[in-house]
Amino acid sequence: MVGAVPPRATPKRAATPRAAPRTAPGAKERAPLALERMERQYGEPYWFLDFETPFQLLVAVVLSAQCTDAMVNRVTPELFARYGTPQKLAAAPREDVERIIYRTGFYRNKAKNIQGAARHILERHGGEVPRTMDELLEVPGVARKTANVVLELVGDNEGVCVDTHVGRVARRLGLTRAPDPVKVEQDLMRLYPREQWGRLPFYFIMHGREICDAKRPACGECFLADICPKRGVVARASSE
Ligand code: SF4
Repeated sequence: MVGAVPPRATPKRAATPRAAPRTAPGAKERAPLALERMERQYGEPYWFLDFETPFQLLVAVVLSAQCTDAMVNRVTPELFARYGTPQKLAAAPREDVERIIYRTGFYRNKAKNIQGAARHILERHGGEVPRTMDELLEVPGVARKTANVVLELVGDNEGVCVDTHVGRVARRLGLTRAPDPVKVEQDLMRLYPREQWGRLPFYFIMHGREICDAKRPACGECFLADICPKRGVVARASSE
């Protein structure tokens, strides 16, 4: 007797891996509310760095890497008085540039970058700071963060400038879970309309400096505490 043919097992479908959402639930509603309150609290945005021209802004932003804006503002008056244009900075003696910017840290690398930027802007753009993200990213020493700041002044915003404060505050408010600044930027660009991209960093930086400190966030006096998923956090890099 021929035994009954056992039914064929239906092949199991491989599970499609689902990417974890990068925002906490409610981010869409929380994002505009948080910005509205920060705007009320901190008023109209202003520049943290002192400069008079787009080129000087670009130089100041490059110098601000791993350094406070206050320190950059202490060294740029002398730098810009002596070498405030691409022509003058490109031709400046390297040792003198290094001496002037010494207090901003990583001064050798920064001197090389800002003089390289000055040369590049002279040779490729006739001395004018370029106005597109692609062109700015070709300038020595300029990464996306610097390019976004410069575009805020001279061109059309193509993104959101994400520094350490912006990233931390955005993560704590549940607007992103990404540690990587480029992904934080993408998440913020999805949550906010383009016309707000240029203003956002000011408010996130202010909040990060004034209240949502990296080590000791003052949740008890934070005007966002009722909508913040991380209120009361004892900050550690992993618990941001
Ligand atoms: S409640 Fe605390 S963690 Fe949340 S934004 Fe305010 S200070 Fe930062």
